[in-house]
Amino acid sequence: MEAYALHMAMAALVGASFVAVSAYYMHRKTLNQLLEFAKSVEKDRENGVTDDEEDEKNVLEDEKRFNNKKYVEKRKNRRKGGGLIGYYRRVSNSLPDVTKINGGGDEKLVNGGRLDMIDDRIPPGLSRLRKLPEAHEFKMFKVRLKYELSGQPLGKVNSTKSVRPASPKSPVASASAFESVEGSDDEDLTDNSKLNSSYLLANGDAGAESIFQTVPNHMNAVVEQNPIPAASMIRSHSVSGDLHGVQPDPIAADILRKEPEHESFMRLKITPNEVPSPDEVEVYQVLQQCLEMRERYLFREEVAPWEKEVITDPSTPKPNPNPFSYSPEGKTDHHFQMEDGVVHVYANKDSTEELFPVADATTFFTDLHRVLKIIAAGNVRTLCHHRLNLLEQKFNLHLMLNADREFLAQKSAPHRDFYNVRKVDTHVHHSACMNQKHLLRFIKSKLRKEPDEVVIFRDGTYLTLREVFESLDLTGYDLNVDLLDVHADKSTFHRFDKFNLKYNPCGQSRLREIFLKQDNLIQGRFLGELTKQVFSDLGASKYQMAEYRISIYGRKQSEWDQLASWIVNNDLYSENVVWLIQLPRLYNIYKEMGIVKSFQNMLDNIFLPLFEVTVDPDSHPQLHVFLKQVVGLDLVDDESKPERRPTKHMPTPEEWTNVFNPAFSYYIYYCYANLYTLNKVLRESKGMTTIKFRPHCGEAGDIDHLAATFITCHNIAHGINLRKSPVLQYLYYLAQVGLAMSPLSNNSLFLDYHRNPFPTFFLRGLNVSLSTDDPLQIHLTKEPLVEEYSIAASVWKLSACDLCEIARNSVYQSGFSHALKSHWIGKSYYLRGPDGNDIHKTNVPHIRVEFRDTIWREEMQQVYIGRAKIPEEVEK
Ligand SMILES: [Zn+2]
Repeated sequence: MEAYALHMAMAALVGASFVAVSAYYMHRKTLNQLLEFAKSVEKDRENGVTDDEEDEKNVLEDEKRFNNKKYVEKRKNRRKGGGLIGYYRRVSNSLPDVTKINGGGDEKLVNGGRLDMIDDRIPPGLSRLRKLPEAHEFKMFKVRLKYELSGQPLGKVNSTKSVRPASPKSPVASASAFESVEGSDDEDLTDNSKLNSSYLLANGDAGAESIFQTVPNHMNAVVEQNPIPAASMIRSHSVSGDLHGVQPDPIAADILRKEPEHESFMRLKITPNEVPSPDEVEVYQVLQQCLEMRERYLFREEVAPWEKEVITDPSTPKPNPNPFSYSPEGKTDHHFQMEDGVVHVYANKDSTEELFPVADATTFFTDLHRVLKIIAAGNVRTLCHHRLNLLEQKFNLHLMLNADREFLAQKSAPHRDFYNVRKVDTHVHHSACMNQKHLLRFIKSKLRKEPDEVVIFRDGTYLTLREVFESLDLTGYDLNVDLLDVHADKSTFHRFDKFNLKYNPCGQSRLREIFLKQDNLIQGRFLGELTKQVFSDLGASKYQMAEYRISIYGRKQSEWDQLASWIVNNDLYSENVVWLIQLPRLYNIYKEMGIVKSFQNMLDNIFLPLFEVTVDPDSHPQLHVFLKQVVGLDLVDDESKPERRPTKHMPTPEEWTNVFNPAFSYYIYYCYANLYTLNKVLRESKGMTTIKFRPHCGEAGDIDHLAATFITCHNIAHGINLRKSPVLQYLYYLAQVGLAMSPLSNNSLFLDYHRNPFPTFFLRGLNVSLSTDDPLQIHLTKEPLVEEYSIAASVWKLSACDLCEIARNSVYQSGFSHALKSHWIGKSYYLRGPDGNDIHKTNVPHIRVEFRDTIWREEMQQVYIGRAKIPEEVEK
């Protein structure tokens, strides 16, 4: 401490110019790569860098004192973390270290000081000075200063008029030292860096010009400081700590005192500085075509929900007091009929002009083949792979530079943390929504309280619950979770069939029928009660929501009414829950059983009731009120089953009378086309809620599943097979198609946890959320969604900021109403970028949101060769 004080005193005597000159000579360092630089920067962050201005004064002393063996060894030890990924993994731990701040001044000087540029390869004691050409030194120094100052409330750093409040901790001297170097550096700009600085100016960031030339020939990286208003600067300096005692971490103190909206951080701009080659332009053009194809197909509401309903009341939306009340709504004259597997709608019976015709099957399959051809092309794959890697590295770099600031911003958001940000389970099957212990308790309690309830008709006789268990030679006392045997284990890996059998408690299909079906002898009363219990658990947790997927099979048209009446009669409503309808792709089974004659029968059973109720709600009043809570349509089944890729000229559904199951994309097209028509022509024009297409896809099987859903679907569940196709992965990134991923479920079925692409997708900026899929088979705790987050956080070392970002994504992906979304994640949530973020609600720092937005915009501009038109609002 004494040495520390002495150095401080010495430094206070030294004038600004001296500091500038000494600093200039001191910072001749090896700097060959941007990443190398960032690594060293990150080291500092990890060790609680304070970036205090006093450090600048102590530059000389620090260098002398710590360019020694001990220091170099320490740095080497720190390096053991490994490569970039290693740094990312550890980033969440990189919080300002209180012991270092409070403890030895030596530590602080090392960490906050000047030595972060030391090349590890230099043996201890060897001077690193005078190793590099002059130009390099200049640039390096400049960036260094930028970096050092970036945590400071400096105002516009390069402005000669920038006012720095003089305080014992921040002499004006160092500011002018900075400026002098800054000025000298301006002449040192290469063409490329000039290009970039003009780009920055054009982007309204004239305040920051720090140009850092990096080595890769085609890249320019700019680390840029976010200007801080002078007011906040003064505010934060007025609270500097005891001059002689323990110093608080100034960055922490600074950020904690600021509104989260005014966080300072380092912007990262990495843009190619050369025009793409003609080959690349060609690739970008085909990517554009794919994106435009998706826009052509996808159903989007004409009027966005936020335009329809402007929310002025900031209080919590009132729960719907009577969600199942039916008020008669007018029947319209629309006339509809099935033609070649797709419902066509006309204004009235006599009209011959079809309203909003959807693309026909031949067009769809032609387009699908086009996409398949594109994603298989070598040059497209290479470029996309390259872009994806670049995206990943940009995010790693961002974390190295800003992870601490992100965390501090989270600290400064009052009240909010991971536990009380809203998270939606975007993909969970209703019949597996309770955990195994819950199901066990429920079965036991029913056996105790209602043993004489007649529950099933089997083999010609009606059986009571007690008789069922007697026939299985079981008593309530015998039952335990192991006996229940619904949990996925090693035996289910790559065995979707076995996984499905796990839905049978104790291996007995009759128990499944009694407890997990809604169309049984007791009209699904047990499942209704169980569901209500799950709803109340969910309600109690307050911050967790779920989108339950419930089946319609397409065996008969009455299924819809049966399901709707089950929902209404059991009063299954929760503010935390919406429904998706899942269609199991089981045509071949029904065909074999003789339930359907052709694929057309299935489509009739699935879609005709929907058109009927939409044209005339009186025809199925319960279905009408139920559909208000249905937000999506899903397709489910084992994707790994072999199938033949559809050709351009497939038999129509009516002609599909063979015993084979149609291919995935065949299902996709007919579901898409009917749903599109239903939404576009009827539900939207009648002011009803619309139903989005959100199927399971890319869990296993061929890559063309993902191509088909890219064209037609809002978002998908799983998508792990995107790891096999860089082109599709890149397209999913550009279009920000939501992926509701369930790594624990994949671990039970198709892909080991450690091989799951979730962390990679997340780094690259794909729109991912975490979901549980099947809590009954997979999760062990009462809060399966938190369990899912928790395991991901532990295994992949996700930070609190990462988790909150994923939770925020899940709200965007979900089908909850505009009113709820704006209550949960902020009233301007529909705006892109930081404007749409409310850290007080989401606990996601603006730094993160702005980074994601900036990088995505740059990527879009790259693909559209600078001509991308990006709307200010998120997609509807
Ligand atoms: Zn699923």
